[in-house]
Amino acid sequence: MNALIVHRTRGEADGADVRTLGCPVSTVVDMTDLAEATSPVWPIPSSLSPSRVSSFTSCPMQFRFASVQRLPEPPGVATTRGSIVHRALELLFVLPAPERTPEALASALAEALDEYSTHPDYVGLHLDDAAATKFRAECDKLIERYLDMEDPTTIRDIGLEVRMAANVGSLELRGIIDRLELDADGELVVTDYKTGRAPSGKFEQKSLAGVHFYSFLCEAVLGKRPAKVRLMYLSNGETIETVPSAQSVRFIDTRTAAVWKAVERACTTGDFRPNQSRLCDWCSFQQWCPAFGGDPDQAAVEAVAAYDASLDGRDTA
Ligand code: SF4
Repeated sequence: MNALIVHRTRGEADGADVRTLGCPVSTVVDMTDLAEATSPVWPIPSSLSPSRVSSFTSCPMQFRFASVQRLPEPPGVATTRGSIVHRALELLFVLPAPERTPEALASALAEALDEYSTHPDYVGLHLDDAAATKFRAECDKLIERYLDMEDPTTIRDIGLEVRMAANVGSLELRGIIDRLELDADGELVVTDYKTGRAPSGKFEQKSLAGVHFYSFLCEAVLGKRPAKVRLMYLSNGETIETVPSAQSVRFIDTRTAAVWKAVERACTTGDFRPNQSRLCDWCSFQQWCPAFGGDPDQAAVEAVAAYDASLDGRDTA
């Protein structure tokens, strides 16, 4: 492992308390840098995040569109709702612990909604009054469920939206931890909020892979492996917890290296295969996907036009 880097955003000045009051989550989630390569068909990314690893292993073709070509995707209700709820929880945890009341969370949600009211991720949804009311009600439900799951006044948080990165060989692994806290014994706990549905048992381990990734980053950057990682599914109130081990952290190193080799190979040969699954139903690039009779080479021009049209509320069908 080479150089270690911790990226911190605004609000970090008070020592170990790495709070952020910055941009909406969606503006900082992931930026895949592109590096020069000798003569690959596509430029090889120089960094990977958990979501990018998952994207490549789910469907290499989608990875090409989103992470190599970096084509824009029209905003979606679920993603924007998730970003707003994450922001509301971030605003709540900026407050001193005793002030994290249900009323404070309601105010934080109102503030987050206000911040997003002019954001392309919200404006681009083109919600009419009825849809906007439903959207708001769904956000309310998620924060109510959150309060059923834990008491925020008891959480000893030490970091919010903590950006971390570590180099493994020439590759930079990076991620943003929703919340870093200390348990009663002073041990690190990583918490990740999820606003989508909890996975079935079959997909549970897959969903934990991203959190193990954060354990890997904590150990690399802070020199300490978290005692626990938690996924809080606000849609159904379920929490999935796991205790990272030396083996699970090592597995991330090995798995990421393998994924990275596959990414390099795909960029060098240009062979990004489509992998059809139920995720295709939500894929923004379906019309250019060869598995659906599309021409991937048309995406570079047409996806940008489709994105602009979607923001303008024009029909792109
Ligand atoms: S439509 Fe399905 S197979 Fe095609 S790029 Fe999207 S996820 Fe992959």
